[in-house]
Amino acid sequence: MTTLKDSFGRTIDYLRLSITDRCNLRCIYCMPAEGVAWVPHNDILTFEEIIRICRIMAGVKIRNIKVTGGEPLVRRGATELVKNLKNLPGIEKVTMTSNGTLLGGYLDDLSQAGLDAVNISLDSVNRAIFRRITGKDGIEQIFAAIRRAGELGLPVKINCVPLRGVNECDVVNIAGLAKKGNLMVRFIELMPLGAAAVFHPIPVKDLISMLEKEYGFLMPVTDKIGNGPASYYTLSGFTGYIGFISALSHRFCAGCNRLRLSAEGFLKPCLSGNMELDLRALLRGGASDKKIETAIEELVMCKPEQHSFLSGGHGQKEMFRIGG
Ligand code: SAM
Ligand code: SF4
Repeated sequence: MTTLKDSFGRTIDYLRLSITDRCNLRCIYCMPAEGVAWVPHNDILTFEEIIRICRIMAGVKIRNIKVTGGEPLVRRGATELVKNLKNLPGIEKVTMTSNGTLLGGYLDDLSQAGLDAVNISLDSVNRAIFRRITGKDGIEQIFAAIRRAGELGLPVKINCVPLRGVNECDVVNIAGLAKKGNLMVRFIELMPLGAAAVFHPIPVKDLISMLEKEYGFLMPVTDKIGNGPASYYTLSGFTGYIGFISALSHRFCAGCNRLRLSAEGFLKPCLSGNMELDLRALLRGGASDKKIETAIEELVMCKPEQHSFLSGGHGQKEMFRIGG
């Protein structure tokens, strides 16, 4: 069995799998204000097609799959999909990224289906700011989901995208969620895709100084936590960790291990740029598993050494179409 390696020697073993472009929220930095033309249902991969792609990928040693979207839980049957992904020989971990508003109602079933962990997005704990960012209410539902995940023993990471002048005042409180239990709170640097272009990220050094003013010295964690790009810190008296994911200011491409599959079946080797492989056309055109595997290997060989956000290579797809 071959391992997927790119031309820079990086092993690719992680797939971010978007199962829908639709979402029940309208985060201002993710969805365009003028509204969205949803992808027609027929153009979205069926679960059977997704499973076939993931089986082929497991054959080239993709080990971990993150189910994402849009909001993955607006697609009916997401729990069944998780179960089927978990049952694929070679797949070790299946996790999900959710906005958390619908999650509470699905967690017991997801846990039973074998979900290994969940990332929950939370950009504000202030009702008015949450509504300004997402267009809806939902803080109570998110906290209920966080509590239920804790009861089920499901590891939770909270992801927050700090935006200058929008949710700066939330940074300290959201970080404070890592005080008790084993929650990880990660601050994700805004990437300049689609609707995000008019907002400004808060640099990590500013986040660190806000947190240190409130909680004292942030101590870097030297042990490796997870297999993603976050750098983690601890704080005195905290049982959870604080992480920073800064694609622009601290480029982490050297350790990139991932591919991204959009809900329409476009496989992207990098979040930036427009390079993609139309797997839907291959599947629906009758390609054999071998042909699809070879096409994936060829795409991986073209994976760029690093993203091109800093040189204007934003690509044309917004985050809700790619899956984050
Ligand atoms: N709806 C789910 C959610 O919100 O977690 C999953 C999909 S969402 C696209 C995945 C993650 O991407 C979220 O944590 C969201 O905050 C983040 N995101 C969206 N647009 C972004 C941007 N321009 N820069 C950085 N992160 C972004
Ligand atoms: Fe929906 Fe997630 Fe985008 Fe917010 S960040 S609009 S929850 S897909």
